[in-house]
Amino acid sequence: MPGDGAHDETYAVLTDETRVRILLALAARYDEAWSSEWPTFSELREQVGVEDTSRFSYHLDELQDEFVRKVDGRYRPRVAALEIASAIRAGTYDGDAASVDPQGTDYECPHCGQALVAAYRDHSLFVVCPDHGAAVAYPLAPRALADRTLSEAIDVSLRRHACDVRLLRSGVCPRCVGTAGLSVPRESVPDSYLLDDVAYATASCEDCWLSYPLPVAHAVLGHPAVERLYDERGLGPADAQLGPHDLARVSEVADCDGDAPAVRLTVDLGDESLVVELDAACRVLDHWRR
Ligand SMILES: [Zn+2]
Ligand SMILES: [Zn+2]
Repeated sequence: MPGDGAHDETYAVLTDETRVRILLALAARYDEAWSSEWPTFSELREQVGVEDTSRFSYHLDELQDEFVRKVDGRYRPRVAALEIASAIRAGTYDGDAASVDPQGTDYECPHCGQALVAAYRDHSLFVVCPDHGAAVAYPLAPRALADRTLSEAIDVSLRRHACDVRLLRSGVCPRCVGTAGLSVPRESVPDSYLLDDVAYATASCEDCWLSYPLPVAHAVLGHPAVERLYDERGLGPADAQLGPHDLARVSEVADCDGDAPAVRLTVDLGDESLVVELDAACRVLDHWRR
């Protein structure tokens, strides 16, 4: 957890501009490095644009070995360096996307039928009913809006969320690759959520900040049986999370009073139902069509 030596060194790296630029320069060489070599000391110094050799040498030393490794006289980035480069890339975008004014969507509020409104502000994507609360509120890096409309960004977020849930069911944190998972039941239901009359589960990571409530019915997002059910009807991952085919709206959640199964989910898309049995960590034990 934060506070140990490794984290202190990470903070030190991020407080120095030259060191951050070295990490970004190495990340930028990644594609090239498949066919040619990683840079030598002087190539890297030139790329970063530091004249003073000893100053550059000092900063490069500070990055070894946690972020940069020297192999045969050439410098290559470690995973931590690439992760920092990606995070900076995701978080910095100077276009107009820093905030996007509210726009109507094609999705309707399940309570009142009025069109849900989407907005992007404070690095979060919101899809809300002005009267009833939020259907979607995801942290989303500004980069997601760089080349996309707001409705494309919603689709991207929901596709990504389906992948995240699939990883979480396997015990993997989609953000830090640490140990994470899903669990039922969840006692408290957030009152800002649009679907307040459904059962909730908790997604959380033991190693990083990731923690959020999600409808139990969404715990099967990204499962092949669920994706197939939707795909056969021309529906995609976004449809399983928002609108009339939202898993939380078309599923019946039955508590099984046990660990295996803990929950039985019946997804009803009209013509056919999919039954999915989950344990208390939302791992899929069994599923069948009915
Ligand atoms: Zn409403
Ligand atoms: Zn994590």
